[in-house]
Amino acid sequence: MSTKVAKFGGSSVADDIQIRKIKSIVSADPARRFVVVSAPGKRYSTDNKITDLLYLCKEHVDKHVTYEQVLQVIHDRYIAIESNLEVDAGIAKEFTIISQNLEEGTTSDYIASRGEYLNAKIIAAFLGFDFIDAATFVKFDARGRFLFEETNDALAIELAKHENGVIPGFYGTTPDGKIKTFTRGGSDITGALVARATDAEVYENWTDVSGFLMADPRIVDNPKGIDEITYKELRELSYMGASVLHENAVYPARLAGIPINIRNTNKPEDKGTIIVDEGQAKEGGIITGIAGNKDYTVIAFYKNMMSTEIGFIRRVLSILEEYQVPVEHMPSGIDTLSVVIASKYLEDKLSDILEDFERKLAPDTIDVIENVSLIATVGRGMASKHGVASKLFKALFDADINIRMIDQGSSEINIIVGVNSTDFGQAIQAIYAAFAATN
Ligand code: ASP
Repeated sequence: MSTKVAKFGGSSVADDIQIRKIKSIVSADPARRFVVVSAPGKRYSTDNKITDLLYLCKEHVDKHVTYEQVLQVIHDRYIAIESNLEVDAGIAKEFTIISQNLEEGTTSDYIASRGEYLNAKIIAAFLGFDFIDAATFVKFDARGRFLFEETNDALAIELAKHENGVIPGFYGTTPDGKIKTFTRGGSDITGALVARATDAEVYENWTDVSGFLMADPRIVDNPKGIDEITYKELRELSYMGASVLHENAVYPARLAGIPINIRNTNKPEDKGTIIVDEGQAKEGGIITGIAGNKDYTVIAFYKNMMSTEIGFIRRVLSILEEYQVPVEHMPSGIDTLSVVIASKYLEDKLSDILEDFERKLAPDTIDVIENVSLIATVGRGMASKHGVASKLFKALFDADINIRMIDQGSSEINIIVGVNSTDFGQAIQAIYAAFAATN
C-alpha cells in the first residue's frame, strides 16, 4: 500500500479545533498512515508555544523559583485538548511523572520533549492510531550527535509493524536512555526521517501557509505562490533567510527521492508547494523566488598584481578562520577581492581583523562597507535563458538603486546582488515587478 507521511506543525495542533481538522485531513486519504506532530503552538499571536513554556518551567527550577504555576498552564492546556476531544490519553498521570522528574533535576531536553510526547498521545487516541514513541527509534550517540542510519534502520523495522501511527517529533534518545532533542523546529526532521524509513510517496508538511511565496509578503504586495521548487532552489532561498522548513529536514527526504509537499491545515484544498529533486521538476518560470537578508558587511581589498600573488585569498581566509568568522560570499575581480560577512560575526572583532589584514596582507587599500543587504533571485529556469541578469539590473537601475556587489553562483540558478540596506525593500519590489508578470 502506498504511504504518505503527514507532519503537523505547532499551529496545526494548537487546540482541539485544529486537531479536528487534522482528523478530516488524515481520514480523507488512507495513504496518510503515519502522522508526526509538533507540540501545540500559538492559537493567536500573543499566545505561548508549549515548547517555550516547557523551557521556562525548567529555567524556574534551575533558578529555584516556583515552577508550579507555569506547569499548571501547560497542564490545563493539554487537559482541555484531551477533554474537548473526548479521549482518554492518560494526560493527568503523565503530569505526575513530569513533576516528579522536574523535582529530581531532569534535563531541559527531556522537559522540552514532553510537548510533542503528550500531544502525540492525545492525537493517537483521537485518530485511533498507534502511539509510537520516537524515544525508542530516533537515536543519538553518547555525545549527542544524531545517528542517521541507525535511526533509519530502527524506524523502518518498527514502522513496518504498524498499519497506522502517530509519532512525536523533535526528540530521540542517547544510548543511556536520556532524551535528546533536535534544534528548535526539529519535528520537521522527524517527519522526514519517518518518510524515508517508510519509503513514503510524499512527505506532507502541514503548516499554516499554503506553501512558499515568490517573495516576502511583508515586502511585496500579494506575491504569487510557488507551485514547485527544487531542493537546490530551496537551499539557495533558505540560505538567504526564507526558511519555512527546518534545514535538516531536507536531506533525508532528498536522499530517498521523496518530494516534500508544504500544505495548509486551514486550507486543505490548496495544493501548496511541492519540493522535488532537479530531475523530477517541471520546467517552471524564469525565476522561482526572491529572498534577502539585511546586515552584512563587505570588506573590499585592492592590491596591485593581487591576481598573480599566490596565497592571497588563503591568507584572507585563514585570518577570518582564526577569528571564527564565516564568509558568506567572495566576489573577486582583477586585483580586487571582497569578502561578504554577516555583520553579527564582526561586532567586537572588526578592528582587530582589519589590523591583521593590514599587517599580513599589505593591501593597497581596504574598504569596509557596512549595512549591506543581500538579495538572491533564484530560478532553475534562468540557467538556460539569456537576458535574465540584464532584466534584473535594469529593474534596479530604473528604481534608482545602487548595486554594491554582484555574485552569480556557479549553479547559474541564483543571482545575488548587494544593495544598501536602506534600499532593501524597494530592490525586492523592483525585481519582483520585473519578473512576476511574465514569469
Ligand atoms: N516544538 C518544537 C519547537 O517549538 C519543535 C517543533 O515544533 O518542530 O521548536
